Amino acid sequence: MTVIKNICVYCGSSFGRVDDYGQAANALAQALVRKNIGLVYGGASIGIMGKVADEVLALGGEVLGVIPKALAHKEVAHHHLTQLRVTESMHERKMLMAELSDGFIALPGGIGTFEELFEIWTWAQLGFHHKPIGLLNISGYYDHLIQFLDHVLAEQFVKQETRDLLMVESDPDVLLDRFINYQAPPVIEWLSKEEI
Ligand code: AMP
Repeated sequence: MTVIKNICVYCGSSFGRVDDYGQAANALAQALVRKNIGLVYGGASIGIMGKVADEVLALGGEVLGVIPKALAHKEVAHHHLTQLRVTESMHERKMLMAELSDGFIALPGGIGTFEELFEIWTWAQLGFHHKPIGLLNISGYYDHLIQFLDHVLAEQFVKQETRDLLMVESDPDVLLDRFINYQAPPVIEWLSKEEI
């Protein structure tokens, strides 16, 4: 069993077109609090990012926000968190979010969410960390991405072991239970001897 104290959640700074995404943010927040897991996230008050933080706080859970100076000054920083850490740069922010977390979950979001998810996934591929990574596919939002990832696998631009590092679920409780039972695979040989 893996001890999961804090989970980093990547998600939209928008609300999205339908209510399902906000409801999923609330459901994830409730599951985190039920399992006594703290939230680490981008520190903003806007979109479903703000929603997941508000719901964790409302239920008495802990929320640690990490925001770069430039975004905090645009007054989107959430000022009622358990703790808000302000970093000099976006790179420093993402590094700190990664260090403070025992696993990573992406909810629906836009390019900021994709960038964060793919970065943490590539770091796992390279063996820079061995923490679980999950995608919450809400109302089929990520169906096309998942299909594309199958294509990437079939075209041999990603290895099966790397693809398997990304767990896809639609229920936050199921995903968190997979995190708790997660055993990191041995370091992936992402370049074979013939490829070097
Ligand atoms: P997006 O998915 O493009 O809406 O971007 C959301 C992701 O990028 C979040 O997980 C944040 O960490 C980061 N992000 C984007 N915009 C902001 C913002 N205004 N304030 C804080 N973080 C943001």
